[in-house]
Amino acid sequence: MPPAAPPPPPPLSSLKIYLRLLRYLRPFVGLFVISLLGYVVFASTQPMMAVILKYFVDGLTVPGASRYELPLVGHVDLMYGVPILLIMSVAWQGLGSFLGNYYLSRVSLGLIHDLRRALFDSLLRLPNRYFDQNNSGHLISRITYNVTMVTGAATDAIKVLIREGLSVIFLFGYLLWANWRLTLVIVGVLPIIALMVNHASRRFRKQAKKIQAAMGDVTHVASETIHNYRVVRSFGGEDYESARFKKASEENTAKQLRMAKTSSTFTPALQLVTFSSMSVILFLVLFLRGDASIGDLVAYITAAAMLPKPIRQLSEINETIQRGLAGAESIFAQLDEPPESNHGTAERQQVTGRLEVRHLSFTYPGAEQPVLQDIHFTAEPGQMVALVGRSGSGKSTLANLIPRFYQHKEGQILLDGIDVEDYTLRNLRRHIALVTQQVSLFNDTVANNIAYGDLANLPREQIEEAARAAFAAEFIERLPQGYDTLIGENGVLLSGGQRQRLAIARAILKNAPLLILDEATSALDTESERHIQAALESATTNRTTLVIAHRLSTIEKADLILVMDQGRIVERGAHAELLPQNGPYARLHAMQFSEAGDEAPQNDGEADGQTDEQTAISP
Ligand code: ATP
Ligand code: MG
Repeated sequence: MPPAAPPPPPPLSSLKIYLRLLRYLRPFVGLFVISLLGYVVFASTQPMMAVILKYFVDGLTVPGASRYELPLVGHVDLMYGVPILLIMSVAWQGLGSFLGNYYLSRVSLGLIHDLRRALFDSLLRLPNRYFDQNNSGHLISRITYNVTMVTGAATDAIKVLIREGLSVIFLFGYLLWANWRLTLVIVGVLPIIALMVNHASRRFRKQAKKIQAAMGDVTHVASETIHNYRVVRSFGGEDYESARFKKASEENTAKQLRMAKTSSTFTPALQLVTFSSMSVILFLVLFLRGDASIGDLVAYITAAAMLPKPIRQLSEINETIQRGLAGAESIFAQLDEPPESNHGTAERQQVTGRLEVRHLSFTYPGAEQPVLQDIHFTAEPGQMVALVGRSGSGKSTLANLIPRFYQHKEGQILLDGIDVEDYTLRNLRRHIALVTQQVSLFNDTVANNIAYGDLANLPREQIEEAARAAFAAEFIERLPQGYDTLIGENGVLLSGGQRQRLAIARAILKNAPLLILDEATSALDTESERHIQAALESATTNRTTLVIAHRLSTIEKADLILVMDQGRIVERGAHAELLPQNGPYARLHAMQFSEAGDEAPQNDGEADGQTDEQTAISP
């Protein structure tokens, strides 16, 4: 049986989603009203065209009618009246159109902006687990793509509803006024249109959702290849990635096509219905013309002919709404995800850095096997505790639990005697400087990478001092623009050791009482290793340090070494105590010495002692 996935949240009803979406329009009510007024103006010009045509035709066909008795206006010379009326009504229409479109754009762009920000800010609060379980492509395309579709439902649909809805009402009113008997025939067609709209709506929503998933896949494959292009090239993954992308893109195309097909069959079918009703009207007009003037009839037919377009657009808003709702649903699902739990209230200005871990066990959410079991140790202020052990033994997991990146259920972690759960997240993390195993850098200058986040306003001298302490200053000063050099995405323009030293400088600058160093496993040359070791030494003085070390030479001076295996501490003690015991630590040590091979003798100074000891324990 596959591991039980958390049950999906119950789908929200369309109406609920829609109402919730409309709530986001609240700040824009003023702009929205202006825009709707614009559309009212626009719609009011629709029957005007028919009326103008009527006077024009009357002017042509009724001799002597060039002077015309108009309601309100009085006598008008049609020769001048018709062209002037035409220009005026088009200008009026243009004004309405401008107000409507421009202010609606402000509303929808504002809405996009707000939703994008809400999504992005939710990413900053979501727990690590969420990022483990959702691929970044989908998260990104939600921010870039889904958000824009939502405006379809929130603003475009309302625009069409108002503009075209009013056009229909005005035209319809004119038709009723001109000839109510004929007009009622049109009413007979409306239920047929309504049925067709209803039917298509279900299919649209389903397909729109699938397209969104496919869109995410395209982004996902592309971004993965872009990020890992070195691996792709060095392992000959080009064909595989190309095929994978082709598949994702093809699926996307196929789904878009299916959507286009539904919409393209839907529209002409609707046209057929409306124009069939038109031909009935034409017949009836000819049949029942009575004593109406030619101008009256032409105007009537014109107005009737203008009716299908807004009706068709009204029928299409359903598609827009469904697509928008599909986008909104996934957006709201993300916004509804519970954020990192943050129930603690304790805040300390300063802590001493005493770290105590009591009987801590931990299982990753969704996993069955515990990753940590009964971890128990204390680091007194200023002490250095080292975690060593085989890959996968749970060292990084333990490091991640201290700043509460994951939620543990069994046991306790205490910082200065207070359970980490009882601190506010922000305050807790302020006391901890963490250098993660995978160094993360931003596409920014060296200085801004060291002074990141809360540290951003620190003076340049302090940044330089931290860089010196991290033994990064020597390479930074050789960079073309020194501290102002841009280091590329995630620091691609730097070497592995340089990136690591920047991360250490960042941690030193933070000057937190508890330092957690998760040493990268990547093999470094002796030169950079020595630099990094020196950096670590200066970073660990005067603060409590938890070091996860892969190179045991780094932690010989540690006050306490914890040897981990399969989530348990299997041995503990200082280097000098552990080595003679010939237990797991001694074995790890011996293994590393034999791996180091002839590199060891190149180490000068302090390394000599190490070599002797290693020789002593190797069989
Ligand atoms: P290394 O020395 O290679 O860095 P480690 O001791 O740091 O190893 P961890 O990263 O703590 O090991 O991983 C311990 C176990 O937890 C591994 O078996 C791994 O599969 C699992 N694990 C790590 N991260 C996650 C995660 N986010 N979700 C689920 N399981 C995870
Ligand atoms: Mg690790």
